[in-house]
Amino acid sequence: MASKLEQAAKDRGIKYFLVSFADLKGSMRAKLVPAVAIAGMEEDGAGFAGFATWLDMSPADGDILAVPDPDSLIQLPWQPEVGWVAGDLWMNGEPVEQAPRNVLKRVIEAGGKHNAYMRSGVELEFSLITPDGSALADTADCAIKPCYDPQALMRRFDLIREMCDAMQELGWEPYQNDHEDANGQFEMNWGYADALITADRTMFFKYMAKTLAEKYGLRATFMPKPFIDLTGNGCHAHMSLWDQREGGTNLFMGDGELGLSQTAYHFLGGLLHSAPALCALTNPTVNSYKRINAPTTASGSTWAPNAVTYTGNNRTHMVRIPDSNRLELRLPDCAANPYLMQAGMLASGLDGLENKRDPGERLDVNMYTDGHLYNNVPKLPLNLLDALRELEANDVFRKHMGNDVIDGFIKLKMAEWNDYARHLTEWERRTTLDC
Ligand code: ADP
Ligand code: MG
Ligand code: MG
Ligand code: MG
Ligand code: MG
Repeated sequence: MASKLEQAAKDRGIKYFLVSFADLKGSMRAKLVPAVAIAGMEEDGAGFAGFATWLDMSPADGDILAVPDPDSLIQLPWQPEVGWVAGDLWMNGEPVEQAPRNVLKRVIEAGGKHNAYMRSGVELEFSLITPDGSALADTADCAIKPCYDPQALMRRFDLIREMCDAMQELGWEPYQNDHEDANGQFEMNWGYADALITADRTMFFKYMAKTLAEKYGLRATFMPKPFIDLTGNGCHAHMSLWDQREGGTNLFMGDGELGLSQTAYHFLGGLLHSAPALCALTNPTVNSYKRINAPTTASGSTWAPNAVTYTGNNRTHMVRIPDSNRLELRLPDCAANPYLMQAGMLASGLDGLENKRDPGERLDVNMYTDGHLYNNVPKLPLNLLDALRELEANDVFRKHMGNDVIDGFIKLKMAEWNDYARHLTEWERRTTLDC
């Protein structure tokens, strides 16, 4: 009998599979496997040297094996002879504990014990730049407030349309595309889904945007703050909790304030409680901290949070409650590992449920103009090092995600911080040369 992927290859004309996985930094790694060999990979996995990727491994370690998950199959709409599949990592006959997709699956399982399954939707912002990365691609896109500019949007119609058509064909239910608040910045929105599906789609969306941008002679960057005076690229995440993995009831809807349930407020309490540590997962680069806590941008607003607060439909806070069915975390950026980000949000929320965490009173103020009046609210970490120290000291993520992934992540990211700290910047010379 044909294996699931072998059968899919036959039915849909797939000739090659991109068997992929995400390393700790969230980079996609893959092998291109001809369809005739896919059944063997489904059985035994595709072999990779873990140390050659950003996993916490050594060159002396044995192979990691990426076993493709047939449920994650995405046939590339622009290259239908290729099917992308997410792989789950195994080593020495056991799942690799630190592998981000395995980590998310474990946290989802922990939620299952409470009959609580997270569904999420993400808003990835990206900038279209020149292939050499030096400048925005569209020199005419220079308005001070470029948000929703139809001229600049429609100059990119070929690309945006191909991506949106692709998502439609894949059944992601895309519903809007726009020019965002920074020059050269775009956002494309699609429907929410089970957290694992959304994480897979986030990986795939970034791959799709980069690939198709190249096709049109452009480069898509998801860097959190590619231009210091412009609004950065965020990855807002909307979440709700359901009593079944598919279908069921939205446990966030209730008769509390703003139409949310006690469960939603406990989940929110957990998010606020762990936010400074969560930052290391949702804002994992040196550059991430130039998007949050940032001074006002050219457009008049950063749209990014600066403190651990929540509110109703107000975009100046870390958590916004846009409607009675969900929470929006405005913290993450697109450098986040999609699996660790979802795992971290769910772990924080589950801790909130388990410990009945109280989010406190809602703050209905403009945090950009009046935030300084509320100096009792916790601030977000000011840089990657602060965030990593928060993560190191936090038990919630260790409990739900495991020590392997947290220790491995901190080790890799500390190395990144130390590498950064060894750079001598122009700013230092300018401000210190005459000391
Ligand atoms: P905004 O820019 O106002 O924050 P968007 O429309 O850009 O909102 O994005 C909203 C995201 O929230 C989408 O990904 C959408 O699928 C998702 N979403 C909507 N309802 C829910 C829900 N109940 N649970 C989780 N995500 C949701
Ligand atoms: Mg070899
Ligand atoms: Mg949006
Ligand atoms: Mg946006
Ligand atoms: Mg948003």
